[in-house]
Amino acid sequence: MSEREAKAARVDDLKDGEMRQVSVDGTQILLVRIAGSFHAIGAYCTHYGAPLVEGALCGRKVICPWHHACFDVTTGDLEEPPALDALPHYQTRIEDGHVIVSLPDQPSDRRAPKMSTRSVEDARTFVILGGGAAGYMAAQTLREDGFEGRILLFSGDDQTPYDRPNLSKDYLQGSLGADALPLRSEEFFREYGIELELRRSAVRVEADEKTVRFDDGTSLRYDALLVATGGEPRKLSLPGAELKSVFTLRHRRDADLIIEALAEAHRAVIIGASFIGMEAAASLARRGLEVTVVGRDSIPFERTLGSEIGSLFRKAHEEQGVRFRLGKNVARLQGSGRVEAVLLEDGESLPADLVIVGIGVEPRTDFVHGVRRADDGGIIVDRRLRAAEDLYVAGDIASFPDPRTGERLRIEHWRTAMQQGRTAAHNMAGREESYAGIPFFWTQQFDLVLGYVGHAQSWDELILQGEIEGRDFLAFYVRGERVLAVAGMMRDRELAVVEELMRLDRLPAAEELRRRRIDLAEMLPK
Ligand code: NAP
Repeated sequence: MSEREAKAARVDDLKDGEMRQVSVDGTQILLVRIAGSFHAIGAYCTHYGAPLVEGALCGRKVICPWHHACFDVTTGDLEEPPALDALPHYQTRIEDGHVIVSLPDQPSDRRAPKMSTRSVEDARTFVILGGGAAGYMAAQTLREDGFEGRILLFSGDDQTPYDRPNLSKDYLQGSLGADALPLRSEEFFREYGIELELRRSAVRVEADEKTVRFDDGTSLRYDALLVATGGEPRKLSLPGAELKSVFTLRHRRDADLIIEALAEAHRAVIIGASFIGMEAAASLARRGLEVTVVGRDSIPFERTLGSEIGSLFRKAHEEQGVRFRLGKNVARLQGSGRVEAVLLEDGESLPADLVIVGIGVEPRTDFVHGVRRADDGGIIVDRRLRAAEDLYVAGDIASFPDPRTGERLRIEHWRTAMQQGRTAAHNMAGREESYAGIPFFWTQQFDLVLGYVGHAQSWDELILQGEIEGRDFLAFYVRGERVLAVAGMMRDRELAVVEELMRLDRLPAAEELRRRRIDLAEMLPK
């Protein structure tokens, strides 16, 4: 491919440790100066296209401001999901006080990571159960690690792996087309020798024998296995729960069925005021439906985010016309054939043309034998995400030791699942890697976007910087003087910095946060 050179900046324009987005002959690049050397990579994250210049530069790594994908600025290589692709990297040189960048004639905004493919000389069979975030990421990572044996990726779904977080957000709202959902094309799977087996679920794993049996009666022996089967949405066990137009929302086909039902729906009742419920409520309200959310707790997200932030979400929904019935239980769903109303235990009847039930998920693990199970149904794994010999577990179903607190955790977030899929794959491929990913999730409801770094199952104090009412804040969740998690709105760069500080165990102590406003970026190593 032919290249051309162009001036990107003057050498003095950037100090060490600075980054800047520049347009070079119409191509947007991120120019970074580290220890006197200049590096140039693509300017936008390969996940959802965030401008990386608004993220955090931490040594050689840039953390995306939106969903915390990480890239090496000296190579463009992908370091952390949820992005799947690396960034283009451009050569630089200095001439007459200017930084000169070499650009290809037809620049691309991304580059697939360097990956191996299948070789018949490697007789090993690695099996992955589950085509969600953890399963897909593990398959890609095995090839990135140079594994050349057979990779079989089994999914009970009827679609190639897709972007699940979008189902309840832009896809349900109608602002994102179906073509944007697949994580990869079928051709990608073929090219890298990843055998994708859709509509096939495992019904029994025998860890001692290293075998998997499937719902079609077939079985196979593995050399290494990753169980990443995720959660199954809980169903209501109430009269009327089986009526038509009562949905759960987990899979692409659930979202499609809901969208189809919208043609005849004006009133939606959402049962459950957590992530699925609140995101779906916002998406349906945006489509013009009358939406009522029914929740058992008195404030949405009270247990995950606290009452102050939960109340803000409620207020934002109410401003957009969403109604709430909180602190309420559903008695039954009513209708003849199709749902017509949701009857609450207090006797109120809420008319409904469609109902979405978002009351959590159950880990899909009961088919795995020869492993230890936690009380919540997760599978107990060690630091390397190993549950038995050559058997690894990742994502929603993994009960893992938190490297920071030693507590056993099970986290049901997309990026965490990807991070774990990556660690599990490294270990399947023969590395010895302990899982050390920093949890991060985001939620978007109307114009409210919240990011959350870390994990606090409980906390005894919330320290605030900024104002929740003003929708511009950082909230530090503290237990025993230690910051366990940080949530924020309109503080993308700071949240990215928080992630790095948490990784380095350099977050300020609670006592310091109470005393003064701290510039978190100043705490990064120079
Ligand atoms: P969730 O976040 O686990 O919340 C479940 C909610 O359902 C809780 O508020 C719970 O209330 C309530 N609930 C449980 N049983 C109930 C019952 N029988 N009747 C009424 N309410 C009941 O689950 P979700 O919102 O369904 O989401 C499903 C999964 O998708 C989760 O793993 C979630 O993390 C993930 N997700 C994440 C995002 C994101 O990160 N942005 C977005 C969508 C989905 P109690 O507190 O009273 O038990």
